[in-house]
Amino acid sequence: MRKITRYILHYLGWPKDSAPTKGQQTVNEIKTVHLRRGYHNIGYHYLIDQNGIVYDGRPDAQEGAHCLGFNPGSIGINIMLKVGETPSDKAIKALVGLLRELKSAYGCPISSKTIYGHCDFLATACPGLLYPRIKEIIKFTNDNNFKTSVDSIDKDKNIETTKKKDTNEMINIPIFIRGKSNSIGNALLINSQSFIHAGLLAQYGITKVEWDGKQRRVILG
Ligand SMILES: [Zn+2]
Repeated sequence: MRKITRYILHYLGWPKDSAPTKGQQTVNEIKTVHLRRGYHNIGYHYLIDQNGIVYDGRPDAQEGAHCLGFNPGSIGINIMLKVGETPSDKAIKALVGLLRELKSAYGCPISSKTIYGHCDFLATACPGLLYPRIKEIIKFTNDNNFKTSVDSIDKDKNIETTKKKDTNEMINIPIFIRGKSNSIGNALLINSQSFIHAGLLAQYGITKVEWDGKQRRVILG
């Protein structure tokens, strides 16, 4: 398997007034253009449309053809935006979900040292209005509270999701040892119950676990 060390983001870059994109059909058209250019497959590994649908490009195992000189070690992702088009919330959520999957599959973290726009390497306007969102995308990808579910953007469902969140909370809570000021790790709070890795308790010889509701943290003794 190729070693993945970075993710490179692209856009379509079609003129503003060009025909609307059509999901898989547009992906197929791009593939045709790339094959005509002499590539053996579509140049990108993934494409994402404004409805938040992720399309497969070429397999991850194949080196991409999307950023001349920087294809080795890279995964190329195209967010199908035209010139001047803003990425939708659905597209951003789908991208975050995809990056999380890639991160866990290849162990390549999502940070400012691993995720780039095409324009970071070559003189190009690509990835257009996606570029100023990269910082935010890194933050979302690493934030366990950020939901990638496309459905939750729907207005009605969003209300339900918010309600559910109150009763089905799953958040990271810092763990402290009594008398010490630095956190030694994180516990997971699910449905108001804190879960701590058993290895951590053994490591510190802990016999007592307390929940400090006021400061929302776990104290070990
Ligand atoms: Zn590009």
